[in-house]
Amino acid sequence: MFRPHRVSRRAVLSLAAAMLANCLPASAQQDAGIGLVVLGSGGPGAVGRAGSSFLVLLDGVPRILVDAGGGAFTRLGETGLSLAKLDTILLTHLHADHAGGLPALLKARVVGGGGPAALTVVGPGGGPGFPSTTRLIALLFGKGGAFAYLPDFAAPLRFHVRDVASSASERVLVARDGLRILASAGHHGEAPAIIYRIEYQGRSICFSGDIDNKGHAALRRLARGVDLLVFNSVVLDPPGSPAQLYELHTPPRAIGELARDARVSALLLTHLNPGIDNAKEAVLASIRAAYDGPVAFARDGSRWPNEAGSPGLRLD
Ligand SMILES: [Zn+2]
Repeated sequence: MFRPHRVSRRAVLSLAAAMLANCLPASAQQDAGIGLVVLGSGGPGAVGRAGSSFLVLLDGVPRILVDAGGGAFTRLGETGLSLAKLDTILLTHLHADHAGGLPALLKARVVGGGGPAALTVVGPGGGPGFPSTTRLIALLFGKGGAFAYLPDFAAPLRFHVRDVASSASERVLVARDGLRILASAGHHGEAPAIIYRIEYQGRSICFSGDIDNKGHAALRRLARGVDLLVFNSVVLDPPGSPAQLYELHTPPRAIGELARDARVSALLLTHLNPGIDNAKEAVLASIRAAYDGPVAFARDGSRWPNEAGSPGLRLD
């Protein structure tokens, strides 16, 4: 049945939307799509960087937290961003420098005035010496847990937790409203570890997490063609770092080879320590041996794309 008033109303609305888009300030237009804010670019050592943590913004709104290292709480405040719309937390593994800041961040969320929070939390399943992500959330926030008061404190806090098995091949965790989140098991020594890829409106970011060479095949697949690969860069090329660290992390030459093979558009190095900071030229030279795309070293507060809307890697 033809209903002219509906057609004309829709036409008016779309015209209004188009006019509004043209009137938006430049900064709002640049917020469209996927963005990244580094809350923590460091690792376990207290060396002036927060522990590993990232906010992924969709159309300028923080929606996804990747890892929750200590110090991210402070950096969050410095960004001025709100967690009110946060709905997803992705944990790459359950080492303390990646998950230890979770209670502080979630308390900030519930006292921040955003109303009830319903969070999907994804992380590794358990393994020897490590709880599953479901168990971690129960130990922290469940009945009898360390912070059992928090879910009913300032605002209701509810969790939907999903464990990803350490044998998992690539799988889609979320597919809605133009957003896709994919995961695949990585490898980080004994710690069950997960690699994530987030796609939104034609652009994509992949997070390696802490990863050793046994996880490279999975990372090469999941990072294929991403706009930004966030790679944890912890060690120098052998023999520059303690031998046991090569069973946990990826050296620069292999990072460059993987970035080349996966054809990523840009590479952001994070989880940095003074050993890397003091050898940036050597690290870059090793990566450049294979990969010729943009490379940047993260710092706490780095943003991608930057305020100029650069599609490359001119991080602030
Ligand atoms: Zn780590």
